[in-house]
Amino acid sequence: MGKIIAVANQKGGVGKTTSCVNLAASIASKGRRILLIDLDPQGNASMGSGINKNQVEYSAYEVLMGECEPTVAIHSTQAGYDLIPANRDLTAAEVGLLNATRKEFRLSQALTKIKGSYDYIFIDCPPSLNMLTVNALVAADSVLVPMQCEYFALEGLTGLVETIESIKATVNNKLKIEGLLRTMYDARNRLTTEVSDQLHKHFSDKVFKTVIPRNVRLAEAPSFGLPAMIYDKSSQGAQAYMELALEVLEKRETEFL
Ligand code: ATP
Ligand code: MG
Repeated sequence: MGKIIAVANQKGGVGKTTSCVNLAASIASKGRRILLIDLDPQGNASMGSGINKNQVEYSAYEVLMGECEPTVAIHSTQAGYDLIPANRDLTAAEVGLLNATRKEFRLSQALTKIKGSYDYIFIDCPPSLNMLTVNALVAADSVLVPMQCEYFALEGLTGLVETIESIKATVNNKLKIEGLLRTMYDARNRLTTEVSDQLHKHFSDKVFKTVIPRNVRLAEAPSFGLPAMIYDKSSQGAQAYMELALEVLEKRETEFL
């Protein structure tokens, strides 16, 4: 049964989408069946996977609204993973679901039908703790939190951790923190190492060993609709995500022991 990992942080621009696309591609290259769900109306994960968000007929919006079967919205990507795309339509889901019954369970319900077909399902969340993110956290087994090691980073995590705890206490008691991922990492920066030390103090073994360096190839690749490991496999960025993929796979294997 597929493990569902929500990639979330309400802070914008911390590397959620970059992590989703590159982890999906790296784990797919190891022969695992991967689905990436773009749950952000910005549609960056869709475009970065080479799927034109403005030309899709069925997307995450129809899936959440129950207007199509999830299988109908699945697109295959050049990097070997499947994708449910998103676009501006998804902003309407918030309002559309306002008075719906069990509105927090829409994604979870939809995924029960397809999670047997995948080893991992990644969900790219929007930079907000809104109903879309709540749907992701209700559906997920764990949350991967990308973050930049900067001054207010830890403070910013409080809201997310509280949301995770409240969802865990009420509707999804299996929800765990998969790990905190340090992105755009610069070991020469004193603040980076200070924040990193604090992270270890507060979250200990929940901090991924792998760090993702700042790397221009990771920023360039989306404009070609490709994950970095296809755009430039030898780049530092692509290699770091491959290392992270191995860490995620290893973690899961030890869970079964
Ligand atoms: P949003 O909150 O808007 O959804 P996000 O958290 O998904 O943003 P990304 O879109 O992944 O963040 O990254 C923000 C910007 O930083 C993008 O332009 C991306 O290409 C760039 N970026 C992400 N990670 C790296 C990195 N390790 N090195 C260099 N650039 C990066
Ligand atoms: Mg994003």
